[in-house]
Amino acid sequence: MSKILTDHGFLFTTNQDSADIYIVNTCTVRAHAENRALAYTAGLKGWKQKDKRVLAVVGCLAKDKADDIMKALDFVDLILGPDSYRRIGEYVSQIINTGTKIIETRMNDEIYCGIYPTASKVSGFVSITRGCSNYCSYCIVPYVRGQVRSRPADDIYAEIKHLVGKGVKDITLLGQNVNEYNHESVDFAELLEKAADTEGLFRLRFLTSHPKDFDRRIVHIIKDRPNICEWFHLPLQSGNNRVLDLMNRKYTKEDYRALINYIRHDIRDVAITTDIIVGFPTETTEEFEETLSLVKEIRFDNAYMYRYSARHHTEASLFKSLDENTIKRRLSELIQIQSTITKEKTEQMKGKKYEILIEGPARGCASRGKTRGNKDVVVEEKIVPGTVMNVIIQDVRGLTPIADSVT
Ligand code: SAM
Ligand code: SF4
Repeated sequence: MSKILTDHGFLFTTNQDSADIYIVNTCTVRAHAENRALAYTAGLKGWKQKDKRVLAVVGCLAKDKADDIMKALDFVDLILGPDSYRRIGEYVSQIINTGTKIIETRMNDEIYCGIYPTASKVSGFVSITRGCSNYCSYCIVPYVRGQVRSRPADDIYAEIKHLVGKGVKDITLLGQNVNEYNHESVDFAELLEKAADTEGLFRLRFLTSHPKDFDRRIVHIIKDRPNICEWFHLPLQSGNNRVLDLMNRKYTKEDYRALINYIRHDIRDVAITTDIIVGFPTETTEEFEETLSLVKEIRFDNAYMYRYSARHHTEASLFKSLDENTIKRRLSELIQIQSTITKEKTEQMKGKKYEILIEGPARGCASRGKTRGNKDVVVEEKIVPGTVMNVIIQDVRGLTPIADSVT
């Protein structure tokens, strides 16, 4: 969007007092994200009172709740669904000139072709697919993003080349399920290999791998390509087979365990992270405990843990939810167990050497870098972003390793 607006002659600012256009980009995957976006937009009423300012709410929440937003927050000028972002410059100009309000939330075959970001950091994301057709029973994504479609491989390679040319060193290929990538008979394995061949590309990663479609060739490609990082994000969601089935995940806990064993057998020092939902409707105490025991057994490097949130349109929203206190209690129990594991694994990094890519400043005069396993590391020196350095982990603060550079 910022590239399109810049092409329309607008300038980018993060200073809201000097801004004429305010864009609130939204997510609706959980109720929490939705409520935050709505509260944030409501807080912009004062900003909007100044003449000729344009307030836009864009993204998945805008697609799902356009009418509700217009009713509750009638000072919003523009509502744009995720498939309409290409028209943002045109619509903003129209609103400035005519003062009309615009709502545009139609779904189409948008796949991000030909738009490459103007400004980039040291690390960047490149979308390879859009939408999702898996219909996990709790998930709103297929309804707000549409069916899965793959972006042409040549356009992906061109964006990677463009980013590398701008100094980006660490690129993550992004899709709801990267293993479903398929465009004119190029599959994800081929895409990954060719992307890794980009001249000057220092690090390559991908997110998210759905366990049901995991292609074991990927493990061998990673072993052969030094610039592909040894990190897999494999959302587990639940450690109980009945719940997994009810979630429509299409794998069992035995399949999941076998996959992790396969990866760990073949790649030394691999980092594995996950997503888990607790309190899915009808989840019993014993079933939740199965998730806890799988988490203890697998020992993820890190996990994003969520309490179940009923979402509009989804099959699971028709099921009776568990009571909120039970869900909260389960979530804090899971977080406590995983945090202990993350802490222990971080402590094990002490005294070891890691290659990190400095991404930016940390608090004070320290810098923050990333390992190949996607772990943030703090170095107590001011270092230029983009620097690659070898460090030795000296200490752990909270869950963050603190390192010294190796001379
Ligand atoms: N496509 C990825 C996959 O299938 O693993 C996940 C993408 S989703 C946008 C990110 C995470 O949000 C999911 O892995 C899930 O843990 C969580 N999530 C999605 N819908 C949720 C819901 N209704 N309640 C709680 N967490 C949810
Ligand atoms: Fe949602 Fe991921 Fe399932 Fe697609 S695969 S429906 S994005 S959780």
